[in-house]
Amino acid sequence: MLEKLGEVLRKATNRLANAIFLDKNLVDSIIRDLQRALIEADVNIVLVKELTDKIKKTALDERIKEIEKKEHIIKLLHDELTSILGEYKQLKLQKQNRIMLLGLYGSGKTTTIAKLGNYFAKRGNKVALVGLDVHRPAAPEQIKQLAEKNNLHYFISDEKNPIKIWKKFEKELKEFNLILIDTAGRHTLDKELIDEIKTLNKEIKPTEAILVIPADIGQAAKKQAQEFQEAVNISGVIITRMDSTAKAGGALTACAETKAGIYFIGTGEKINDLEEFNPKNFLSRLLGMGDLEALIEKVKSVTDEKEQKRMQNSIQEGKLSLTDVVEQVKSMNSLGGFEKIKSMIPGFNSAKIPENALETQQEKISKWEHIIKSMTPEERENPEVLKKQTSRITRIAKGAGVHNSDIRSLLKQYDMLNDLIKGQASFDPEKGMDMKQMQKMMKKFGKKKVMRF
Ligand code: GDP
Ligand code: MG
Repeated sequence: MLEKLGEVLRKATNRLANAIFLDKNLVDSIIRDLQRALIEADVNIVLVKELTDKIKKTALDERIKEIEKKEHIIKLLHDELTSILGEYKQLKLQKQNRIMLLGLYGSGKTTTIAKLGNYFAKRGNKVALVGLDVHRPAAPEQIKQLAEKNNLHYFISDEKNPIKIWKKFEKELKEFNLILIDTAGRHTLDKELIDEIKTLNKEIKPTEAILVIPADIGQAAKKQAQEFQEAVNISGVIITRMDSTAKAGGALTACAETKAGIYFIGTGEKINDLEEFNPKNFLSRLLGMGDLEALIEKVKSVTDEKEQKRMQNSIQEGKLSLTDVVEQVKSMNSLGGFEKIKSMIPGFNSAKIPENALETQQEKISKWEHIIKSMTPEERENPEVLKKQTSRITRIAKGAGVHNSDIRSLLKQYDMLNDLIKGQASFDPEKGMDMKQMQKMMKKFGKKKVMRF
């Protein structure tokens, strides 16, 4: 059921959550993925455009603090998707209920009658199924089979006038608090069907008249729901066959637009394949998250805000401190070395970087750590001063117990990484990359507390 859309939504939120910087390229790429997936799920293109425009606007809004942007966008995406799924409308039972199911041929009325009967019987109601589909010869038999299989009371007749059938059982039905009424469909909502439903309405006075729509019709659900609304005044909708189409997004959002309210969705042919439709829960499941709070927590947990901001500033300025450089190299090292990481980042991979340009040997790294400890804070933040004054290099080498050449090699790494960052201040962390490794790396980069000596 909308697996593909769910997958894309999960990916998009993960990419947002894990990105260190929300640059335009990343936002555009995420938006393109979202648009494609929503349109493939048959969501109306106008709705899709509205939704993605809002996300784009927020992402590029300079008034929102960079650090809060990811949360903003994820919340926005969540809220917008919830809103296109419509309001939560629960089918609330009263003391006595006469629920009539309406719909065209093959929409799933009879199957759904049995599912609803089973659903409410399990919740302690006294349920009766009444077959008033006098057009399909096999209809009474279908009700009988479904009812017997699921231990439900049923009332059927060979009589060809639905009102006569109703009158025949009306007295007996008084002992049931929930009467589920199956009606006949047509190919279209023609005058004959409208008249029949109107007559039934007048006689039965249903407490609910629910329209059954199959998800496979996609966005056409809107027109159908509107026509039924206008002609016979429906109180809600049940969308069936959610499991059997990739267009379910169209049926759901189109129905939501009519404000008819979706009570249930049918998710399979079996008796238990019926779910109450709650837009929030539905979306949470699609996103594979508990709820919005859990989602926001996830975003927060991936990145340490302070460190992220500091790193981001450094990188935006195209300048890291020596301490940053050593930390970065260490992180890379623990992730399988720079060569490996380089091959996973698209921009980096094509960048002309000499073999083994970035050292990741443990021995060297520990030397560098000693070197940094022997430096003044000024030297750490701005190693350029070392290049100008070689006497400083000699002093540090002595203090750290290393050769001058070790310090020069560290400075080389420093230049190399800063050059890389200048040319590649942002990159899309997902494209062409093993997601797990990337997440791990980002976590490390984002969370790492920079050593202060
Ligand atoms: P009616 O003509 O409106 O009464 O429709 P039926 O209840 O006879 O259903 C038509 C077909 O749709 C049957 O083959 C059902 O098994 C099937 N059907 C109904 N609901 C679902 C559903 O949620 N999922 C799937 N896969 N099939 C369904
Ligand atoms: Mg039927």
